[in-house]
Amino acid sequence: METGKVKKTIDTTLAQSEARAFNFCAGPAAMPQAVLEQARDELLSWQQSGASVMEVSHRSKAFIQLAEESEQDLRELMAIPDDYAVLFLQGGARGQFAAVPMNIKGRARSADYIDSGHWAQSAIQEARRYLEVNVVASGQAQGFTCVPGQDKWPLDPQAAYVHYTPNETIGGLEFPFIPDTAQVPLVADMSSSILSAPVDVRRFGIIYAGAQKNIGPAGLTLAIVRKDLLGMAVETCPAILNYQTQFDKDSMYNTPPTFAWYLAGLVFKWLKGQGGVQAVAEVNRRKAEKLYATIDKSGFYHNGVDSQWRSRMNVPFTLADPALDSRFLEQAEQAGFLHLKGHKAAGGMRASLYNAVPESHVDALIAFMVEFERRHG
Ligand SMILES: *Cc1c(COP(=O)(O)O)cnc(C)c1O
Repeated sequence: METGKVKKTIDTTLAQSEARAFNFCAGPAAMPQAVLEQARDELLSWQQSGASVMEVSHRSKAFIQLAEESEQDLRELMAIPDDYAVLFLQGGARGQFAAVPMNIKGRARSADYIDSGHWAQSAIQEARRYLEVNVVASGQAQGFTCVPGQDKWPLDPQAAYVHYTPNETIGGLEFPFIPDTAQVPLVADMSSSILSAPVDVRRFGIIYAGAQKNIGPAGLTLAIVRKDLLGMAVETCPAILNYQTQFDKDSMYNTPPTFAWYLAGLVFKWLKGQGGVQAVAEVNRRKAEKLYATIDKSGFYHNGVDSQWRSRMNVPFTLADPALDSRFLEQAEQAGFLHLKGHKAAGGMRASLYNAVPESHVDALIAFMVEFERRHG
């Protein structure tokens, strides 16, 4: 595309979105515009109450109804069976790195962990404070471009659980399969992939996710826990992290992050309006495919992740000449593209394509990248 045309594409899209930028932030990430607009409209007076949702008691009838409805909507979106508890918690995914071993260690001595990169390693490091961790597979030798296949994992049938990170937000690595762990509960840190595509919840013992990527604003953490894993926490587990306690108290053992919860509820309704997880999965697939195709055919941009293992949510890429990195980021920002800088642990660039990032924004990014390559390649 020519410079003038690129500018026109970008300007048109920007105009349509009330001067909101193209936001590719990895987290806290872009929210659906319709959700922000509704929140804005209701900010001073929620449900004609004369008060904001953040100014009312979490014990009020109206808020409890909101809480119940958001759980119901999430259950519908993910087809969560009745024998799973849905908990709305705090402390982020990192809180769950500790909560998981403290809650379900039981009588076991150890747990099995899959090392797929930065976030898996952070989970491993935290878990080591509470039990013995066996790293049964690692993508380290492959530079985290993939992880060895499950047939090579020496899983321990006595392990308390098997933990993995379905999507590595920094490395841009996504598991193309759900591990089969037989009778051992499978625990997944779905922070950056939850609700991006349908998953069979029955395959998991615990799914947890910080909200700030694909659910809502930071401050809320979801845990979906198979009910037979409740009630077995170690004595020293803080009550606030105790799944059974939070389940008994409807996730209100302490004051929950009510405004974040409200926004998450609006996002669930927005998702249902989009046609649900199945429908957004199709859009997500297209967004990622076209961005990877642009990278692969360029020779100027590069992504080294094994094609089977590429993340649909987080697309890291480098420029052939790293000296151009700062110019790329500068010009991108001038053109309205925000937060394309890669994580400091990875360098380069990263575009995060969560549910709330419209396909038109990915098209605009591709147009910008093609034009940048034309001028600098
Ligand atoms: C962002 C992220 C985390 C960290 O989440 P916090 O809520 O900040 O603790 C952990 N795991 C994954 C996969 C992430 O994407």
